[in-house]
Amino acid sequence: MSSPALRLFAYPSLERDGVPVGLKRRRAMALLAYLAVTEESRSRESLLAFFWPEYDRGRARADLRRTLSTLKQALTGSHLEVDRDRAAIKKNSGMTVDVREFQRLITEARRHDHGNGVLCNDCRASLEKAANLYRGDFLEGFYRGGSPEVEDWQFFLCENLRCELAGVLERLVVFLSMREQYDRAIEYGRRWLALGPLEENAHRHLMRLYALCGRPAQAIRQYRNCAAVLETELAVEPDEETKHLCESIRKRRLSHPAAEHETAPPMSEQAIVGAFGVLEAHEDDAERAIRGALDIRAAALTQDAAVSMGIGYWPFLGMLRSCFRLYGQPDGKVRADKMVGLLKKLREDGYLTHDQVEEIGPLLGNLLSIRYGTEWDEMLKAARPDEIRHRTFQALKDFFVALAQKQPVVVVLDDLHWADSLSLDLLSHLTEAVNDAPLLIICVYRPVTAIVACRSVPSHHTQVLRSLHGAQAA
Ligand SMILES: [Zn+2]
Repeated sequence: MSSPALRLFAYPSLERDGVPVGLKRRRAMALLAYLAVTEESRSRESLLAFFWPEYDRGRARADLRRTLSTLKQALTGSHLEVDRDRAAIKKNSGMTVDVREFQRLITEARRHDHGNGVLCNDCRASLEKAANLYRGDFLEGFYRGGSPEVEDWQFFLCENLRCELAGVLERLVVFLSMREQYDRAIEYGRRWLALGPLEENAHRHLMRLYALCGRPAQAIRQYRNCAAVLETELAVEPDEETKHLCESIRKRRLSHPAAEHETAPPMSEQAIVGAFGVLEAHEDDAERAIRGALDIRAAALTQDAAVSMGIGYWPFLGMLRSCFRLYGQPDGKVRADKMVGLLKKLREDGYLTHDQVEEIGPLLGNLLSIRYGTEWDEMLKAARPDEIRHRTFQALKDFFVALAQKQPVVVVLDDLHWADSLSLDLLSHLTEAVNDAPLLIICVYRPVTAIVACRSVPSHHTQVLRSLHGAQAA
């Protein structure tokens, strides 16, 4: 006989071989759920106080006895451990509990700790399984009146699990968006939003996703939906970020009605803005940069100077992975070695100091979720987020300057109108570096958002391109 399966998401049921096992007492199901989820041995006294607070002692004891006996019968095998004083679900008895499995999968995915929205295939599989297990809220529709303690427990655990699910769905949305699996991402995004229609972040993700897969009208509808819910429930307007995003999508749509029919916007409407600065005394640096840096450019910027999906530094992450040749390297040790190798080389060649390497190593490791297995992994433990951010900006600037001194570098940021605000701040910081090394930064974006970062560079140059035909653009 196979082990029983206890399903606690949605209306609870106990099954064996897919066949429901009837539990005559509702209290029996509540008690079983409690013992199975907490996975701890409970004293009879505490169970009495928890489940039968309104009964006198004698009656409560008798009821507990009957309930435990009902459970024993239903579970048949040796899943329940009961003695004079205590009751528990036996550990490793083979009974599956969907809520426990859900929690285990999430813990497993969390243990990988990739950071920055990155998942490996294992994490993704765990999170998708977890999302599938959640068929409905914890003990949905199962109301067992009489004990406020039980009600509180049910309520808070339910909320907690909903939050966990929201986190799972958010991570899947971000990950699948990065992989350009928009339909799946939208599916999870809708589920995420259904959990909390006031979650503006979920609205924004859906807006971006609709826009990305050529459905701007739906993106705008999503925005209206968001604004309406916020107005009704909280009497507030959407965040600036949300409005801004809508504006970007709207403008693009207005100038590209064809986009509504799921075609790519015609090149002719694109504006390309190049911002670069070079030391005026060394004007040939620009030419040297372009000539010398072509391979970096090609490697860095084909697919990954990319769309931001709410992940900090996203365009730069792709670029760094290329610089360190991390693509196609799932092995953490190899990745760490590659990072250390390049930094060491830059130090040996005199482009970075020892102190700079000691600073850049941990910060870029943190950014790229690299575990070195050395003290570098611990160095940021005590640092505050704003401090890390500031130091990351500086570290990236030093790193790009060092790279450019070794070999001129062209950084091309494509589709910058989608970039996250952190990346724009970083870009603004990075533009200062163009005066220190042959570094050329080219930003390509549609003129829908006010990207001012580049304009702070005195030697920047803006080129608005109109009437570019497809062939010309190529
Ligand atoms: Zn993973």
